[in-house]
Amino acid sequence: MENRLYIGGTWTAAKGTFDVIDPSTGEVFASVADADADAAVRALDAAAAAQASWAATAPRERSEILRRAHELMHERAEELARLTTREMGRPMAESLGEVAYAAEFLRWFAEEAVRVGGEYRVAPGGDYRILTTRQPVGPAYLVTPWNFPLSMVTRKVGPAIAAGCAMIIKPAEATPLSALALGRLLTDAGVPEGVLSVLPTNRAPAVTNALIADGRLRLLSFTGSTPVGKKLMEQAAGKVLRTTMELGGNAPFLVFDDADLDAALNGAVVAKMRNTGESCVAANRFIVHEAVAEEFAAGLAERLGALRLGPGLDPETEVGPLIDERARDRVAGLVADALERGATLRTGGKVPDGPGWFYPPTVLGDVPVDARVMREEIFAPVAPIAAFPDEESMIAAANDTEAGLVAYAYTRDLKRALRVGEALETGMVGLNRGLVSNPAAPFGGVKESGIGREGGFEGIDDYVELKYLAVDM
Ligand code: NAD
Repeated sequence: MENRLYIGGTWTAAKGTFDVIDPSTGEVFASVADADADAAVRALDAAAAAQASWAATAPRERSEILRRAHELMHERAEELARLTTREMGRPMAESLGEVAYAAEFLRWFAEEAVRVGGEYRVAPGGDYRILTTRQPVGPAYLVTPWNFPLSMVTRKVGPAIAAGCAMIIKPAEATPLSALALGRLLTDAGVPEGVLSVLPTNRAPAVTNALIADGRLRLLSFTGSTPVGKKLMEQAAGKVLRTTMELGGNAPFLVFDDADLDAALNGAVVAKMRNTGESCVAANRFIVHEAVAEEFAAGLAERLGALRLGPGLDPETEVGPLIDERARDRVAGLVADALERGATLRTGGKVPDGPGWFYPPTVLGDVPVDARVMREEIFAPVAPIAAFPDEESMIAAANDTEAGLVAYAYTRDLKRALRVGEALETGMVGLNRGLVSNPAAPFGGVKESGIGREGGFEGIDDYVELKYLAVDM
């Protein structure tokens, strides 16, 4: 288990360390080097020095590095999955799923690395030519959350390598070890010296401030909560720094009266329970037509109530603990608030005894729209259900939020599906599907859920600058 800083190709100790906690037990299981502002500047020195030669590397060479990294992720799947389960608690089966998902970003961008092109146009006057080309933006700072510790890194590293940007990865405090393991893996895959740094830190603002204030940085790609994203955008404005923001969600899950209810329930379990509900695309509010609300609530309570809670390393476990005590206390508060406002408890709702930050899968019926659980990102296995009389009121309720990452809708009517898909104010919509994430698709939000897209053909756009050459004839 690597626990040092990785600065431009060199593993190095730091002045201090910080602890990594196993959320299944609440106990420390590792300690990791704690990067400071000096380490950040050294990482940027390395990135800036390597940038020009890295940008000049043949696209095929960068593509091959990504392909090898993809293969290595599959070879090391078990080890990587175990590490993420120790760090953030979810069951091993889900961790293995994330390894495969994360690896796929590397393969996708291995394929895209050789397809970054430009255009040749004749100027309307015919007297000169308009050539466009795409060049790497330059050193990129990649800040990631703890909830998908591998794929949130590879979703940024993939396009950075494909485009030819040197990079500094700053993982979340809770999951530094998996990012360091990825650093090792990328080096083994052939990422050259200087191009990559991994800076675990318990002092995120100090490290980030130092990098944003340094004029050599060219891109801040952030995935995390909306409040932190807003703060970083303000800071980045000082340098007119290019930013990509993948922020929080509050996904509505709409079930119309003409839905295939069994399919809707299966989709609801995936959309709610993937990653213990700790996902930006987790179904947050179930907006159900009143004609099917009771049947849906009963079905969801039955399915969620049957899931087995336990430590992620136990093969019987279907739902792991939450990330920390604060997250568990917060969700207990959200449920208490909903019950006080008149919601009914259909299953769960009681914090179990014993160690670890467990919270059971919970279904709440008849939830008023002003309950906190409907307005805030839950990030836990809690499903609030509210009933509405018609399509219009369901769409209005779905859009009544400042978030706009994803929405889900279940209906058998194709015209309604497309109408609703167009009316929902989100960057992504799952139509009769509870899962939208795919490395081949553009992932991202509108409104306060962010700016930019990751994955898909579009995922490289933030890592390249479009240059125009005017060529006289
Ligand atoms: P967070 O905002 O607390 O932290 C994200 C990252 O920012 C971490 O690396 C953290 O160390 C760093 N950070 C925190 N405060 C900082 C500061 N003041 N200055 C500089 N860096 C700082 O989020 P989190 O709890 O790690 O992750 C959960 C959030 O991420 C949820 O809101 C979730 O919806 C969102 N998320 C979004 C997507 C997406 O693609 N849209 C994907 C995953 C998670």
